[in-house]
Amino acid sequence: MTEATAERMVPRETPETREFWAGARRGELVLQRCGPCQRPYFFPRPTCPNCGSSDVRWEPMSGRAQLCSYIISHRPAPGYTPPYVIALVTLDEGPRMLSNLVDVDPSPEALALDMPLQVRFEWRGDTALPVFAPVEEVR
Ligand SMILES: [Zn+2]
Repeated sequence: MTEATAERMVPRETPETREFWAGARRGELVLQRCGPCQRPYFFPRPTCPNCGSSDVRWEPMSGRAQLCSYIISHRPAPGYTPPYVIALVTLDEGPRMLSNLVDVDPSPEALALDMPLQVRFEWRGDTALPVFAPVEEVR
């Protein structure tokens, strides 16, 4: 008999994304950086999307980001309790990622564009998923 419990889907690891997920399990956000043009990029792929070089290496990022855009989803989805925030974040190093915001009220009043965020990892089975939480700016 099939269990009706709703489990959140997790991405399937591929040879190209193996380092990304291995980093996540260590609590590190690792992206590829191009040797010739020095730009980090996301999503993982064997050649630089900027200059086409295959001279790329994996490197831990700071995990700091800013909120670029978001939607507040009120639709039920497996593993999510609506409402929840789907966010486009801009990493301090430049690349953008689609992720979820956690530890924040899912309302427009609580969400300011450019607000500073810090990556965290949420475990789903043996996969650690990067999510982002607001940080208080220390000046
Ligand atoms: Zn490049």
